[in-house]
This record gives sequence, C-alpha cells and structure tokens, in this order.
Amino acid sequence: AKRQRRGGTIIFEGAQALEMSRQKAVEEAFLTANLTEEISLFYQPIVDLVSGRCLGFEALARWISLTVGPVSPAQFVPIAEHTGRIGFITRHLLKMALEQAVNWPAGTFLSFNLSANDLTSREGVLRLIAIIEAGQVNPASIVFEITETAVMQDVEQARASVALLRQFGVGVALDDFGTGYSSLSQVHNMPLTKLKIDRSFVQNIETSAASQKIVRSVIALSQDIGLDVIVEGVETEGQAAVLKRMGAEVVQGFLYSEPMPAEMVQFWLEGGQT
Ligand code: C2E
Ligand code: CA
Ligand code: CA
Ligand code: CA
Repeated sequence: AKRQRRGGTIIFEGAQALEMSRQKAVEEAFLTANLTEEISLFYQPIVDLVSGRCLGFEALARWISLTVGPVSPAQFVPIAEHTGRIGFITRHLLKMALEQAVNWPAGTFLSFNLSANDLTSREGVLRLIAIIEAGQVNPASIVFEITETAVMQDVEQARASVALLRQFGVGVALDDFGTGYSSLSQVHNMPLTKLKIDRSFVQNIETSAASQKIVRSVIALSQDIGLDVIVEGVETEGQAAVLKRMGAEVVQGFLYSEPMPAEMVQFWLEGGQT
C-alpha cells in the first residue's frame, strides 16, 4: 500500500511538472507569436430571458498558437499583462470587433472585455476612445466590461477612467460581480451601466439558498439604483426558470449559445444552428 501511495505522489508531481512546463512553453510561445495573426474574437449572444431575443454579443479572445495550440484567455491575458503587451492586444482586438460588429442589426450591443491595465492611465483610455471614434459603431452600442478585481487595484483611477468612458457615451459593465472584494459603496460611486452576476452563483442556484438570496438581492438592488443586470453562465432550463421567477431579464450562457466565430453571427441571428 505504501508503494502505491508513493507511486501516487510521483504521478502527482509529474503532473505538476508537466503543468509548469506547459506554462513555460505558453509564455515562450507568446513572446514569439504573431499575435495579430493568431488571436481572433468569438462572440457569445446576450439574450432577453423572456423573449429569447438577442440583445448583444460579448467578444471573447481566442488564441491558437502555432506552437502550443489553443490557449485560453484566462491563461494568456495575464501573460499579456505582465509582459506589457495587453494594451496593444486590447487596441488590436477593439479595432477588429468594431469592424466585425458593423453589420449587426441596429441596436445590437457589443460587449468588450478590458483588462485592469487598460484603465490605469487617462492616455490609455483616450486611445480606446480614439479607436471607437475612427470606427463605424455608435458608442451607445458599445459596453466595456471591467472586473471587480481590476477596479479594486486602484479605485480612484478606475473611477476616473470609467467616468471618461461614460462621458464619451459608451456603457460600462462590472464583470464577475460577487467574486471580488468591491463593496457596494465603491460600486455605487462609479458611473456604471450594468452588473454581470458571476456564473458561480448560477451553477448551484437550483439548490443553494445562499446563491438564491444573493442573486435575488443583487437583481433587486440593481433595479433600485438603475443598473441593468446580466446573469452569466446559464446552462440549463432549470436555472433559467429560477432566474425568471427572480425577475432576471438578461442572460448569457451555453443554454443559449456557446461563443461562435464572427462569421457565424449573422447565420445564428437568422435562426441557424451553430
Ligand atoms: P468572462 O469575461 O467572465 O467571460 C465569460 C467566460 O465564461 C468565457 O470564457 C465564456 O466562454 C465562458 N462561458 C460563457 N457561458 C458559459 C456557460 O454557460 N458555462 C460556462 N462554464 N462557461 C461559460 P473564456 O472565453 O474562456 O474567457 C475567460 C476569461 O478571459 C473571460 O471571462 C475574461 O475575463 C477573459 N477574456 C476573454 N476575452 C478577453 C479579451 O478580449 N480581453 C481581456 N482583457 N480579457 C478577456
Ligand atoms: Ca466578460
Ligand atoms: Ca464574467
Ligand atoms: Ca470570469
């Protein structure tokens, strides 16, 4: 039995070593990649819970490295941040998204993820605004998603950046709400337009009284202070039914569609299957 246990330890260490060398390989691949060629955007519908109508799409970055294969944005965005390339990537992706969204039906909004680093300077934010000005998409149809964690890195700077974006006319959503440490008072002082409830609260919403209470009160509070709520990560009809009873109005998740390539958006809107 002892030997087996030792064997288990060795296998575990082997897996850890493999994971570490994968991380190293990914970092190396990132530094030599032709990022503008290899990174693309997928789009996930954001829908009206009651009518099922598509209200907008969230752009999600996809990197297929020629050397290490597909790498999730959860893995490469942090690498882009600490190698100082995120600003360049954000601007490149924003230009691409604006080109791809140009033929969407009027009123369909584009939701676009920003990293914490994209909010740290006024100049950086002004460059994003300049890109939107140069594009063909109405700023009122654009929503930037920022995470609670990004806001908390420097609340004052984040507030100034959000204010600047709002002045220009784009919406700003607080992403992954409930997973960070922002207090409601800090959120309240930001000119946000939307809150996105993190999918961790949706996963067990049919069984967890705590998740139900949290989601119900966030929905009520948001409606009170005039914020739109998007509930993320809806995967089952059961979850959708619970959310409907709670008064949720806008949802996103695999139940409606997985993220799809830009070329599929038109087809999907016309009722095609993806
Ligand atoms: P996020 O902004 O919270 O995006 C939602 C993530 O949940 C996406 O993962 C999406 O594919 C996934 N998702 C959507 N519906 C469901 C569902 O029903 N169930 C489950 N299990 N997952 C669902 P993805 O595309 O891998 O992105 C991961 C994270 O990477 C994003 O989380 C976002 O923080 C970051 N990210 C993605 N694209 C960009 C980007 O262009 N720029 C920046 N700065 N970050 C990005
Ligand atoms: Ca997001
Ligand atoms: Ca999210
Ligand atoms: Ca997330």
